[in-house]
Amino acid sequence: MIRVAVLSAIVCACAILSFGQAENALARVRALNLPILDGGVTVIYSPSAKARAQRYQAALEAAHKWYEAQLGVSVPVTLAVLDKPDWERATSVPYPMPNAKTGLVTVPSRMEDFPGFADMQADADILAETISFHEMGHIFADDYEGIRSRNSWVNELVPNIFAQEYICARQPGLKAFMPRPVPDALLPRYTSLADFDYLTGVQSVPFSNYAWFQFHLNRLAFFVAQKRGLPQVVEQLKLAFPAAQGGYLPSEEVLRRMETIAPGFTAELGLLSGPATITRVDESICSGATASEGAPTLLVVDNRTSREMTVSQDGKSPIRLAAGRWRRLNVRVGEKLKLSSGSCLVASGEPTLAVIEKP
Ligand SMILES: [Zn+2]
Repeated sequence: MIRVAVLSAIVCACAILSFGQAENALARVRALNLPILDGGVTVIYSPSAKARAQRYQAALEAAHKWYEAQLGVSVPVTLAVLDKPDWERATSVPYPMPNAKTGLVTVPSRMEDFPGFADMQADADILAETISFHEMGHIFADDYEGIRSRNSWVNELVPNIFAQEYICARQPGLKAFMPRPVPDALLPRYTSLADFDYLTGVQSVPFSNYAWFQFHLNRLAFFVAQKRGLPQVVEQLKLAFPAAQGGYLPSEEVLRRMETIAPGFTAELGLLSGPATITRVDESICSGATASEGAPTLLVVDNRTSREMTVSQDGKSPIRLAAGRWRRLNVRVGEKLKLSSGSCLVASGEPTLAVIEKP
């Protein structure tokens, strides 16, 4: 049975690196001296994956051609299809997490190795191809169109819009993979876009939870794709989320901008619009010694006051946190952090959020 889990599983490390690092990433793959097939999208592949490499190349080339024609740009893209041994020689991204770096899309030769793959009841080839459309969307959006937000979920929504626009326009066969609602019983630990922003990119969000977010971001991307074609959406995304003005935006502002692109967007959010579900911690009176031997954990400090504050951690330089900004700190369970207001925050066993609202 073909299920929606295919799109729900569009995940990636989404490591968009600087140009120097990216050249490195491509150079590292090339240095493996693997077979290469030239084409609209060059593919570098492990010998064990020749048949899949040819198939994935053809699928990505078609999408690449369409993205370029729609946007009137020329964007070199290389695809790497790697087995585990070659993957581990080529990149530090954990196998088999698909990812995008400037000009380079990397997918595993066996999506079957993906955690939870058996539960997805998905076709490994279609899954890999669909994910590659998303990964290539990162390259077009980030490197060539200058669309970038400090709100992480926006950076994942955008490549999903690219993929959904292409699927809707040119791959009607893949419409069978369009999102459907997820039963409430399958709700993961984190369900708010605020959680996604605070925690994305760290190991604290379990794989299945990250996939759940991607499922919903695809659902939203599909909604956007029904409203406008790719060129119009991209023009508006460039205005709404220009990379050059990369400050973190309050969610109300992100949604106001998305409404101009796709009216009705906010009403589609559902659970995602809820407040952060990360465990909260309140300020407390500073007393006693700080624990320095606890297990590593995370503490997010969100400064909602109108003035800058500092956060002091034993043995480290104080961190200045401007009004309206937040920072994710690596701490230890039981560790005490002192705020410039004179109060303290104590880290707990799971990622914790402290929202500071009093001046
Ligand atoms: Zn991504």
